[in-house]
Amino acid sequence: MEGDIDEANRAFHVEGTGEDAEAFAATASDLLAARTEGILFPRLGNGKGQTGEACRYCEHIEACVQGDSAMKMRLERMAERCAREAREDKKMSPFERHLARLWQVDQADSP
Ligand code: SF4
Repeated sequence: MEGDIDEANRAFHVEGTGEDAEAFAATASDLLAARTEGILFPRLGNGKGQTGEACRYCEHIEACVQGDSAMKMRLERMAERCAREAREDKKMSPFERHLARLWQVDQADSP
């Protein structure tokens, strides 16, 4: 990684094998692709209507819209629509495509 990320956070070593390693690599690749395209959104939920696990430890929570339930609901509905449209192979914008993939990244049936 490069750019505006400080040196200490540009890389870290991960070991793994099998499906978990493949899923991690695919997700990391998707995250980097979204970031390269300038597509960043707060993942306010875990795809199950609950607050994401990472939010519990996030140092940016005070500046985040995590507590904005209306924003959270709109993003969740948009992510659900995008996931459905991805499954239906509909034409999607880069933002919609990344939202569909990354919002539900820990869901077994994510697109
Ligand atoms: S609180 Fe942190 S981890 Fe949670 S959505 Fe906001 S920025 Fe992301």
